Amino acid sequence: MRDIFIDDDFALGGFTSGDSGIWTRESADMPPTDDYTELSRSLGVPFEHMVRPYQAGGTTVAEVSFRHGGSGIIKDNELKKTDGLVTAQRGLMLTVIAADCVPIYLADNEAAVIGLLHCGRQAAAGELLGSGISLMEKLGASAERLSMTIGHHICGSCYEVGEEVTGEFTGSFTEAELGNIFRRKDGKLYLDLAAALTYKAESYGIASDRIFRTSVCTCHGRGFYSYRRGDRGRQDLAFFMMK
Ligand SMILES: [Zn+2]
Repeated sequence: MRDIFIDDDFALGGFTSGDSGIWTRESADMPPTDDYTELSRSLGVPFEHMVRPYQAGGTTVAEVSFRHGGSGIIKDNELKKTDGLVTAQRGLMLTVIAADCVPIYLADNEAAVIGLLHCGRQAAAGELLGSGISLMEKLGASAERLSMTIGHHICGSCYEVGEEVTGEFTGSFTEAELGNIFRRKDGKLYLDLAAALTYKAESYGIASDRIFRTSVCTCHGRGFYSYRRGDRGRQDLAFFMMK
């Protein structure tokens, strides 16, 4: 299953489950999985022009160039504990794995800078998005010009969380915002990651009419892998590239 939802003169971006849903290798000397091979072939992007970091649910964002091409795919990965990538180089495909977390696609067409972030719960409450925007600004982007696409992820009706999770968010959002980020239904508490990330983006200066979101939920939708639904060792891949 593959959805491409950014495809214009400037960039190509989408989300795929591949066939086998395994986007990771056990060790550096293993060949790329069939899913990478198929993605490379169908998009016409060689492995040497793709980058995948080792993700850790943290706040580290790295600037990458063709020097990093193939990292995590056909060569060992120096991008350790990295959950966001930005680049100013055309033709370099940024990728991150996800299976319910939120992929965030950022683009400044004028500055020709893009970013791709893997936002889990901690990132939605914390500073990954801010780190990504700051790094893009160092490369010439400006928050006012950025467009942001919130990709496929687990929706606010599926993502049940424990009461303790509210504490991770309270310091970063207003009471009114928290009322939209957390919803109660039948005595259960649900978290809307996209709502949290939208408020964050607006606080960093991204215009609300430049924030877009896809409508697919990885959990209650079909065709993509979902950790919450029970998929283990199988993930989806977000990809984003300047043409
Ligand atoms: Zn859902």
